[in-house]
Amino acid sequence: MSDPMTNSKKVMIQIGYDEKLTHHAEHLLRGLGMDAVADKVTVVWNKRLRTTAGRAYSNLAKIELNPRLQLLSEEKMEQEINQTFLHELAHVVAHARNLNRRIQPHGPEWKEACADLGIPGEERCHSLNLGRTTRRKNFAYICPECEEVIYRVKRMSRSVACYQCCKNHNSGKYDHRYKLIEKRLV
Ligand SMILES: [Zn+2]
Ligand SMILES: [Zn+2]
Repeated sequence: MSDPMTNSKKVMIQIGYDEKLTHHAEHLLRGLGMDAVADKVTVVWNKRLRTTAGRAYSNLAKIELNPRLQLLSEEKMEQEINQTFLHELAHVVAHARNLNRRIQPHGPEWKEACADLGIPGEERCHSLNLGRTTRRKNFAYICPECEEVIYRVKRMSRSVACYQCCKNHNSGKYDHRYKLIEKRLV
């Protein structure tokens, strides 16, 4: 009998606060002379985003990215993540530069911020433009304990528990407390 935990190949998806991207955002903002925003900017991976690649809470200087971007092929992934990150950061920049007036989300102020951040001509699309390989993933499995997400094309035929949590809390043996929660993505 095969071990349910080793039944499938594991895909690591980063969820939550991203220290590297936050520092990157901070650095870019300081470069634009925006220290106050740089002090509070945060970048997080939010697994609740579905078809949106990213979003910005400009007043909080908070950027959220869709973890599905991490499922793109290696050559596409870095570029797509960077582009989405800069698109959202441009919202934060445009907002902070125009605190006293109402601006269009993708208007001239935002376009100027895009140019300043190195993505002139950026389009206004927030939706995920995922390739074939990622769109084929129809199920997500989430650990109730550590919230790690595993994506699958097909439904898992049996109960699978979080490998890391079983390892950390149950000496590597299957523990139903860490049984992954299935979510249909389509
Ligand atoms: Zn936008
Ligand atoms: Zn876990």
